[in-house]
Amino acid sequence: MSTAYDVIVIGAGPAGYHAAIRAAQLGLNTAIVEKWLGKDNKPAYGGTCLNVGCIPSKALLEASHKFVEARDHFDEIGIRVKEVTADVPAIMARKDEVVGNLTKGVAGLLKTNGVSTYEGTAKLGAGRKITFTAHDGSSEELNAGSVIIATGSVPVEIPPCPLTDDLIVDSTGALEFQEVPDRLGVIGAGIIGLELGSVWNRLGSEVVLLEALEDFLPSADQQIAKEAAKQFKKQGMDVRLGTRVTSTEVKDGKVTVQYTDADGDKSEVFDKVIVAVGRRPYTEELLAADSGVTMDERGFVFVNDVCLTDAPGVYAVGDVVRGPMLAHKGMEEGIMVAERIAGQKPLVNYDLVPSVVYTHPEIAWVGKAEQTLKSEGVDYQVGSFPMAASGRAMANNDTDGVIKVIADKETDRILGIHIIGAQASEIIAEAVIAMEFGASAEDLGLTMFAHPTLSEALHEAALAVSGHAIHVANRKRKK
Ligand code: FAD
Ligand code: NAD
Repeated sequence: MSTAYDVIVIGAGPAGYHAAIRAAQLGLNTAIVEKWLGKDNKPAYGGTCLNVGCIPSKALLEASHKFVEARDHFDEIGIRVKEVTADVPAIMARKDEVVGNLTKGVAGLLKTNGVSTYEGTAKLGAGRKITFTAHDGSSEELNAGSVIIATGSVPVEIPPCPLTDDLIVDSTGALEFQEVPDRLGVIGAGIIGLELGSVWNRLGSEVVLLEALEDFLPSADQQIAKEAAKQFKKQGMDVRLGTRVTSTEVKDGKVTVQYTDADGDKSEVFDKVIVAVGRRPYTEELLAADSGVTMDERGFVFVNDVCLTDAPGVYAVGDVVRGPMLAHKGMEEGIMVAERIAGQKPLVNYDLVPSVVYTHPEIAWVGKAEQTLKSEGVDYQVGSFPMAASGRAMANNDTDGVIKVIADKETDRILGIHIIGAQASEIIAEAVIAMEFGASAEDLGLTMFAHPTLSEALHEAALAVSGHAIHVANRKRKK
């Protein structure tokens, strides 16, 4: 016997659960299949993002930031605290509670919207036939008018750094340390390396990041990346660029990492090592030989601009397809696909996917970086505003950073906005809205911002494009 649905979504991470809820909202008979088991071995929804990604990492970043504020900065604003200690098991327990509430919340949302849930593994065959195998081993056949693959990604493993139970770990293991390692090695100074490196650096680890590339944060605007490198150094994070890890050895509860850089062979001994060298699309056991779904040369499910695969009626969204591996990119794709199945014609604007690194200061950007515009030969003007000149940043005792607005020299249309500073993750939303509506720097300059806010720095940076910023000296431009 087989059960039929209008839409079956495989994977209930952010891309999949958004797709399923939107499809159900549009009146489609929808089911979702999810195989994740939480730490308690019970089915859990929300995928990487909620279980071992965005949410737990932000819970640890927030707790460790508050700890540093109390330990190092309360005194500067007249608050005396005697002894500040970090209770790591309590921090971890709160993080787990946040995760538990949110994953249960997604289960509730699926139910409220009338999405049928299947807890186990889906395998897709020809003609949108799905073999569902439940956690108890029983299986049944499901059929769908449309299928949405949203099976996500998993961490990349590299041969010189085989993972161990608790000494050499990936990002998931790094969210579970029960005590602060004295010396922490991080392989890869990308987003995960910087975020999780920051967590443990703040809680007291001596952190060394070994990064293969010569450039730091190459996809960020290079002026912002340079400022970030300066801030991380000030915080005690030791970022070593142009290094190649050749082997690791575990002995007496420590890890020796051998690596080479421009000066030759070197080694370091760490209490723990986090491997954070990227993620890869996850399609294991997903596709029967006759599914008709194809992969690109990097192992991503091949899709067109609107996320349709090579198999009729089969779509794929989120980390398992090309584009940045970001939760919000997958969410938008999930919604787009659900609406297209329902006969609507929305598109995702891939030019305006915001990026955020949740360190302190935070780093956020949308649109093009200055080095990209330069290489494309675009004529542009830049307006920037230092957070040190923001009244609110001063009142907050948090003045590191800068906001930079880049606009087309001829049309003044905003081409990119780049931020390093407190709450950059929130301010960037204003930048995305402005750019989504095709704003010029003048438009942003003519918009009223509440005072005193950190967002005013964005307003001032927009004014600075034409040399009209109020709270900094402007470069000479036309009146
Ligand atoms: P996933 O979230 O990976 O979900 C895929 C789901 O599919 C999983 O639940 C899996 O169990 C299920 N599945 C797979 N195969 C099958 C099958 N055959 N049958 C049934 N179910 C299956 N992104 C951000 O935008 N902001 C952040 O701050 C951020 N922080 C991160 C921090 C860390 C430490 C990590 C690791 C990632 C972070 N990310 C962040 C990335 C973000 O988590 C991913 O981009 C996002 O989760 C991808 O969503 P997805 O729905 O495509 O896939
Ligand atoms: P990443 O691609 O951001 O960084 C990986 C880094 O490891 C790169 O700088 C790369 O040059 C380096 N590297 C690769 N191989 C190496 C090697 N052998 N030795 C040393 N360095 C090496 O990937 P990530 O940090 O693992 O994150 C994975 C994905 O998760 C990313 O796509 C990211 O977008 C997403 N994520 C997003 C957020 C966020 O939005 N705030 C947070 C965490 C993760």
